[in-house]
Amino acid sequence: MTAQTQDAPAAGVQYSTVLPGDRVVARVRGAVLVVDAPALGATPEAADLAAALDVDGDLAAILRDRGGPSFVVVESTAGSVRALLRGTAGAPEERTLTVAIFASAGAATPEHVLHAGAEFVERVAPVAPGAVVTVTVGPPPPPAPVCGPTALHLLRGAVPGAGAVLWSDESLETTSEGDISTDVFPADAPTNEEPTGVSPLFAATEYDVEVQGPAEPVITGPIIEGRRCAFGHLNSPVAAYCTRCGALVDRRAPLETGPRPPLGLLVADDGTAFVVDDDMVLGRDPAAYVAQRAGRSFDGAGRLLPIVLQDRTGALSRAHLEIRIDGWQLLAVDVGSANGTWVRPPASPQPLRLPPGQPVPLTVGSDIHLGGRILQLQDGVGA
Ligand SMILES: [Zn+2]
Repeated sequence: MTAQTQDAPAAGVQYSTVLPGDRVVARVRGAVLVVDAPALGATPEAADLAAALDVDGDLAAILRDRGGPSFVVVESTAGSVRALLRGTAGAPEERTLTVAIFASAGAATPEHVLHAGAEFVERVAPVAPGAVVTVTVGPPPPPAPVCGPTALHLLRGAVPGAGAVLWSDESLETTSEGDISTDVFPADAPTNEEPTGVSPLFAATEYDVEVQGPAEPVITGPIIEGRRCAFGHLNSPVAAYCTRCGALVDRRAPLETGPRPPLGLLVADDGTAFVVDDDMVLGRDPAAYVAQRAGRSFDGAGRLLPIVLQDRTGALSRAHLEIRIDGWQLLAVDVGSANGTWVRPPASPQPLRLPPGQPVPLTVGSDIHLGGRILQLQDGVGA
């Protein structure tokens, strides 16, 4: 799978912005897939599911009898949204896959909510221009923080995330809450019996559901000092622009503390992407290195995660490169690899070899060459 994002999709195209998190979010042929499976390390079921969508034919027929982890597939067009989902029986609320329709990006509460139950369900709903559809593992967050002119748009491929927000330019134009409907969809709503795949409209069923309050960020990093953008994203004290949404950060504003957000996305040459919110060690078999360090980050306060890379050249060491988080700064450390690590900072013509064992600051846009693989550190995650 390859992952591609870009800043500005063509006019009229629905934007799909990934919410930060550690599950799998994929885009296949315009459909958005969210799988409740860990994105770190290979998740064959998630890759399998994404591959299954990349065919001609009716997706409901393909997905109806699928086992494996919980999933949601959402296809959104100008006038309607189609959701195909299957969850796990008795899943707690924070793990329940949820599709929510908001009237606009400014709406705090959804007009419609569909929860994944143990049975496969297919639903089609008409949506007004400007509607925002969120697909999440857990309760739907208000869409406002992630919709904006600089939000990244997932075109295809799979990335780590907690879900996705589907919106359009029209979503930003309506900000009035209007009348909030309480119509929602029970998890045990009858499934579509029609074998033809012609779906009933979302049924307006009365259902008592707790609608979430203001934005609950998915971020759970250590508490750190920084400055917030207008949308409330915490950034480094020296940041001029928000790394998540691109908004200006007023450097005269007072410092605030909050959970540290992910510091970037490490995107490999095969499209695999890793959210950088823990220390990582990259290599062809880094498990022993991680075990030696008891899975602790270099400062002892966080985790050290093994990132397994495949490499046909034989030039990749078992444990090759460590990525450390030091406050707001990322550091690259070649951990004594046999063949070295080269880092090319943005706008630099030549990659430079890392001195073994010495931490070197890593800036966004840098290419990292290790063994036969190249990774790039990219800005922000999703929003
Ligand atoms: Zn921001």
